[in-house]
Amino acid sequence: MPEWEPVIGLEIHVQLKTRTKMFCRCANGFGGGPNTQTCPVCLAFPGALPVPNQQAIEWTVKLGRALGCTIADRALFHRKHYPYPDLPKGYQISQYDEPLCVDGRFIVPGPDGDAEIGIVRAHLEEDAAKTIHVGGATGRIVGAAHSDVDFNRGGTPLVEIVTHPDLHSADEAKHFLQLLRQTVVELGISDAEMEKGQLRADANVSVREVGETEFRTRTELKNMNSFNHIARGIEAEVRRQIAVWESGGEVVQQTLDYEVKSDTVTARRQKEEADDYRYFPEPDLVPIEPGRELLERIELPELPGERIRRFESQYGLAYYDAEVLNSSAGLAALYERVALDGVDAKAASNVLMNEFAATGVDPDAVNAEELAKVISARSSIPRETFTRALAESADPEFRAETYLAETVVADTSELEPIVDRILAANPGQVEAYRGGKEGLLGFFVGQVMRETQGKADPKVVNGLLRDKLTV
Ligand SMILES: [Zn+2]
Repeated sequence: MPEWEPVIGLEIHVQLKTRTKMFCRCANGFGGGPNTQTCPVCLAFPGALPVPNQQAIEWTVKLGRALGCTIADRALFHRKHYPYPDLPKGYQISQYDEPLCVDGRFIVPGPDGDAEIGIVRAHLEEDAAKTIHVGGATGRIVGAAHSDVDFNRGGTPLVEIVTHPDLHSADEAKHFLQLLRQTVVELGISDAEMEKGQLRADANVSVREVGETEFRTRTELKNMNSFNHIARGIEAEVRRQIAVWESGGEVVQQTLDYEVKSDTVTARRQKEEADDYRYFPEPDLVPIEPGRELLERIELPELPGERIRRFESQYGLAYYDAEVLNSSAGLAALYERVALDGVDAKAASNVLMNEFAATGVDPDAVNAEELAKVISARSSIPRETFTRALAESADPEFRAETYLAETVVADTSELEPIVDRILAANPGQVEAYRGGKEGLLGFFVGQVMRETQGKADPKVVNGLLRDKLTV
């Protein structure tokens, strides 16, 4: 049997969180009941004219820059025609052959070097309204008793990002999407919550034998609303295509839905050609010309992918640690503040990635300076106290000294009776020690630590034991 290579390209839609819609002043976002955020423009009343949202244009340029794209001197809106109840104009205003951002490359750092994913384009368009099919088992139109349309989403700004088919496994696609999502969130242009549909991805999937240079027929996989569904959907489709080729069949170009429950794909409809949409330039909108002033004004923050590599070099972290710490900007920032406060870089990363992350505390709310003190002293704080400190680290009253006070009991008057009691309870070991088995000192120290729940100062305990054992 030949060895197969998956070839995957993604089309990602990102809802921008502008205050208003793309071409009118209706509110953008969740809030009112169905069909409360509408106006003559987004309901396509005759004579209503679109006015582009400046913020949406600037954010698309910002995203394009983060994707390494060239920003076009001139971009044009087109009308993309297709009939559907959620599209009252009968066309969607989108960008066609003159998109705002083209020809980018997005770097995805990995444990074995960088993957470079080519970006064909990123363009701005308006979202369709939301159709809700009621009464069917699957939530699809097939079998539904009736359908409702909520126009609140109609005309909200949407960026479509199209990648080259540079991804070669489901895992790689998922990894790319996770970093892209994190980037979009940190740019502050979208909350990109997949379960709310703010970030949606379709995958173009084909397979070929390893060594082949031509692409074979691809299918388009839709209806995937989490990173795991995307990965599993791609895996299912890759399996299906390999089976088709190996049984002597031909993969047919079509649009497929991934069914999570059965872990299979089902055909939706024959793929339309781009020409079917009868694109033509939107006569009510002038071309967008971003201009030098805009490009100079837009500043990019350090992007998550770059920050992963910096964490590796600056703090000497392994790739995996750097990646986990950078899964949110808040956690990354907290890590840096703790590490720069003098805590050992590796220790800080272990604590934050594991015990701290397990508490569910919001990293943005943590008093990093105080937390750094607690982490530095962690080996001399009882375990339970340390865990409590992490859980309480976002409280306004959080002070390291509260927990450090529980640290060490160095007071001999408190420790001496405990030492005496332990020596009295272990006469055999005492005799052995005095007979030359000095290694037993560790045993006695351990007993005292257990008795004091780890709170005794080991130095003081050592001193006390030596004094008493050499008598
Ligand atoms: Zn409107």
